[in-house]
Amino acid sequence: MDASTAAKLESMGISDVAAARQAWEAAQAEQVKQHSKKVKEIQREYKDCPERVLHVSGTAFGFVAPGVQPLPDGVPVNFALKQMAAAALDEGVKPGGVGNMRSESVYREYFDDLVADRATWLHFFEYKDNFQHAENTCGILGTLATIYRQRGWLADCERVLDMESEVLVRYERVSVGAEAAQVSCCQNLAYKYHIIRYNLCLQLERYSESIELYRKLALFEAERDYSFEESNFLFLITAILKKKATAKVLQRLTDEEVMRIIMEPMKRGRFSFQTDRVQLRVCTVCHAQEPSLGTFPSCACKVVYYCGKDCQKKDWAGHKGQCAARKSKG
Ligand SMILES: [Zn+2]
Ligand SMILES: [Zn+2]
Repeated sequence: MDASTAAKLESMGISDVAAARQAWEAAQAEQVKQHSKKVKEIQREYKDCPERVLHVSGTAFGFVAPGVQPLPDGVPVNFALKQMAAAALDEGVKPGGVGNMRSESVYREYFDDLVADRATWLHFFEYKDNFQHAENTCGILGTLATIYRQRGWLADCERVLDMESEVLVRYERVSVGAEAAQVSCCQNLAYKYHIIRYNLCLQLERYSESIELYRKLALFEAERDYSFEESNFLFLITAILKKKATAKVLQRLTDEEVMRIIMEPMKRGRFSFQTDRVQLRVCTVCHAQEPSLGTFPSCACKVVYYCGKDCQKKDWAGHKGQCAARKSKG
């Protein structure tokens, strides 16, 4: 209970814990009711708005809804970019969704705005009421960093991770003492962030950082009693060093031992630095690169790609001779 609630209860003459709890819960319920009432009002008012911002969002500065201008003071001017990226990420993780990778250009646009309007955004994430937006942002940046890492764009990956780390610090700060669900979501995003950075450091051969990150990640798993199967890092202590995988043993491992653990999966070729599936397509004719993964259509033969119908038509006279799809049809 915050100080103002406590003061209010005292002014109402409520001093025992159960009654205070009850009053606090009633106040919370009322707040939720008012919140959804306000959201419904805004949705009614803007139901014909053509903008692709999917939902009304509460911020520490007031409600932000599609087409509502001006934005409340303190909300970054391009807040809509965050909303779009969050909606795309949401859609990507649903089964049968379009997939995270296809929204790369939406994530990149949001990331560029975070860089351009950095001070406003970071200030925005410092408010408790904006935790949801900080959470979305960590998810979005983690996804973008992963795409870049797998594609081998390591400097870009690191730039995105550096920004995520700034947001994460603020998200962690506003999650202290928050509800359990928020705390665990925050910790999981931090865990994922460190995994991406760990993989990046391996790829860049920055091994002293890798050692530090390995310790952090394994400790995270040890503190949460991850089983052998669910663990990504801790189990390697047993598998490679034949030692018991506990937080205590972990703390006593020398850097040389940790290094052995780190290098082993690479020796066995089990660590994939890059994957072809995240490479952007290039138009066979005009050599334009697609903005997001899988947005350029391919010919039925899946050998050549085009930015659009025009280039495909232009190329057909030259391509039809070697087009496998055409040949197989006879
Ligand atoms: Zn083209
Ligand atoms: Zn073809």
